[in-house]
Amino acid sequence: MGWPVSHSASPAMHNRAFESLGYNAVYLPFPVSPPELPQAIAGLWALNAGGVNLTIPHKEAVVPLLAGLAPSAELIGSVNTLVRGESGWVGHSTDGPGFIQAFRTGMEEEPAGLRFLILGAGGAARAVAFALAQSGAAAITLANRSPERAQDLAARLKSCYSCGIAASPLDPAALRGIAPGVDALINTLPLGMHPRVEEIPPVPVEILKPPLIVCDLIYNPRPTRLLRMAAANGCRTLDGLAMLVAQGALSLELWTGLTAPAGLMRAAAGDFLSGAAAPK
Ligand code: NAP
Repeated sequence: MGWPVSHSASPAMHNRAFESLGYNAVYLPFPVSPPELPQAIAGLWALNAGGVNLTIPHKEAVVPLLAGLAPSAELIGSVNTLVRGESGWVGHSTDGPGFIQAFRTGMEEEPAGLRFLILGAGGAARAVAFALAQSGAAAITLANRSPERAQDLAARLKSCYSCGIAASPLDPAALRGIAPGVDALINTLPLGMHPRVEEIPPVPVEILKPPLIVCDLIYNPRPTRLLRMAAANGCRTLDGLAMLVAQGALSLELWTGLTAPAGLMRAAAGDFLSGAAAPK
């Protein structure tokens, strides 16, 4: 469920996995507007759906609608995966571990000891920030349009971890000041996501320079305009596809108890994004 959700490569990825596993299931995209989330969640439970993924903008709003939360999701306050429990949906978050896996593999670096600047303080940012702190990041700065959301997340992180945590306004002057003390910038804002591919977060272009690593959680398009600019300046970059596959594989394992065919899932998502397997 998402709003919008038509850009999602998840149906192609999960359906290819179900087929290869011989698992009798189908994964469908449901565009659900924010006011209709409670009915949609209750309706899928009543229909005996096997599981749910949530994407923008539902990851936090769904939490009060659930029967329970996995301990890691309770800490984060956002979920992307629902699993059937005894008496209702149980929320999990696979975004954080998915990002860490993608960062390690894609950048061939450990997050431990690095200083991160995260643009955003929404559901995905929360999951990524907690996972980075847990992985031993040296410092995390959160820059968000709504300052109170960044401050709230910073306070939550500070209550759990001892690394340097700060909140910042999301404006070019503030980011310019922070940039010299940052090893990796992670965009979790939807700016630049399909179909508004020309949008870009308010990052001054001059801070995008080596040795800064620049990551974007967006996987459609890949690369985003932000990543194109960073790569043109010589930065190492990471788009959102590897994270999509890693978080999806973890969700599938929660739903089915089977080992996810991650290689096939990556190929299916890649086919979808290159237009070879667009949904009918
Ligand atoms: P979300 O919970 O709705 O959070 C959205 C964030 O973006 C908030 O920080 C929000 O700021 C900010 N924002 C939205 N529109 C903005 C604008 N016009 N200007 C400035 N800031 C704006 O969404 P989410 O679930 O975290 O998802 C965020 C993005 O990450 C999406 O593009 C999603 O596709 C991507 N994602 C990718 C993966 C993957 O596997 N690759 C996984 C998860 C998410 P406010 O607090 O001010 O509203």
